[in-house]
Amino acid sequence: MGRIAQTDGLTDVQADILAAVRSFVDKEILPYANELERKDEFPDAIVEAMKEMGLFGITIPEQYGGLGESLLTYALVVEEIARGWMSVSGVINTHFIVAYLVLQHGTEEQRARLLPKMATGEVRGAFSMSEPGCGSDVSAITTRADRDGDDYVVNGQKMWLTNGARAGLVATLVKTDEGADSVYRNMTTFLLEKEPGFGTHGGITIPGKLDKLGYKGVETTEMILDGHRTPASSILGGPEAAGKGFYQMMDGVEVGRVNVAARACGIMIRAFELAIAYAQQRRTFGHQIADHQAIAFKLAEMATKVEAGHLMMVNAARKKDSGQRNDVEAGMAKFLASEYCHEVTTESFRIHGGYGYSKEYEIERLYREAPFMLIGEGTSEVQKRIISRALLKEYKLPR
Ligand SMILES: Cc1cc2nc3c(=O)[nH]c(=O)nc-3n(C[C@H](O)[C@H](O)[C@H](O)COP(=O)(O)OP(=O)(O)OC[C@H]3O[C@@H](n4cnc5c(N)ncnc54)[C@H](O)[C@@H]3O)c2cc1C
Repeated sequence: MGRIAQTDGLTDVQADILAAVRSFVDKEILPYANELERKDEFPDAIVEAMKEMGLFGITIPEQYGGLGESLLTYALVVEEIARGWMSVSGVINTHFIVAYLVLQHGTEEQRARLLPKMATGEVRGAFSMSEPGCGSDVSAITTRADRDGDDYVVNGQKMWLTNGARAGLVATLVKTDEGADSVYRNMTTFLLEKEPGFGTHGGITIPGKLDKLGYKGVETTEMILDGHRTPASSILGGPEAAGKGFYQMMDGVEVGRVNVAARACGIMIRAFELAIAYAQQRRTFGHQIADHQAIAFKLAEMATKVEAGHLMMVNAARKKDSGQRNDVEAGMAKFLASEYCHEVTTESFRIHGGYGYSKEYEIERLYREAPFMLIGEGTSEVQKRIISRALLKEYKLPR
């Protein structure tokens, strides 16, 4: 890969995992990504191989059958995979967040029952906060669960579930009546267990997949809950955790932001690789285009952005791994990496000239995939709200 986006201080185990994933990406993902993407086809063979490699359980502790690796290892693996095809990283993304939620906030019964099946990929996770009427403003959700004996009955509509069909477990944020004075303490996360696939089962309907600009192959769906009955024990953390759902989900989103930053880095690394190669192949006015300073300077700017995004992503992951809160660092990494990803793919597209517009060329796919990085796990505006609020609190002047 050359000298950019390298990570100092990795253990031998981390280096071995990354080398294995990189070789897998080069041999098993990159050669097939464009064709699968054009057909909007789920990458079954790739996903089966990822199960074999243990990637579904990469951060799940060994006692539950996983590899017990850190957020940093996970993020670097995601960066490698997204360099091959961002959609493939999406297959493990929501799964990883749900496994994290179960591990951090679940009861021991939930951990012991769910994590071993998640580690093998037998049960896949989806993460559901967004609704047709709200994404950034989570407090506006209207899907609700009402207590009925030992059960809750859930009604409402969720939107934009990545892996919504194939998932057997959906961490779902809903409103509940806790009598709290804050809307944020009247939200609860349920671990809804459902049949994988489309259609209606037990009051849960997954209607079909949404047609998207990019991020093809992996399905994104709606989820309609119509009188779905679920036991109180399916609340993440058990019945006593009712009302804690918002805070649990925000913890999950924090690691999710490092993950999106890593995906953005993977896309821009690939966009840079394509650009620097093409710039040495294409000739105009008697020179390779890399000899025109305007193009060479673009390459320098792109590489600098890749490096900056990578370093901030690594910093945010290491902070979380050290046991500290990383809300600001994750927000900054996600904001910077996704904006830079958008810019770097655009510049790579422009360096390709007319061919960048052709579906024959890989950059056309990256150009359509990059914008989702600006949206998923919170838009840039949402990241800036988080960063500025936290810093204004920390740097508050005495009155
Ligand atoms: C392909 C795809 C997959 C997704 N997967 C998932 C998933 O698995 N689970 C899930 O729960 N969600 C998922 N989402 C939803 C995603 O998280 C939301 O789309 C995102 O949070 C933005 O919410 P919104 O679309 O409702 O936009 P809105 O919140 O309506 O925002 C619209 C615009 O207004 C801006 N804005 C909003 N509030 C402010 C403010 N206070 N100040 C300044 N600007 C503001 C936003 O930045 C944006 O530009 C997915 C979305 C997509 C497109």
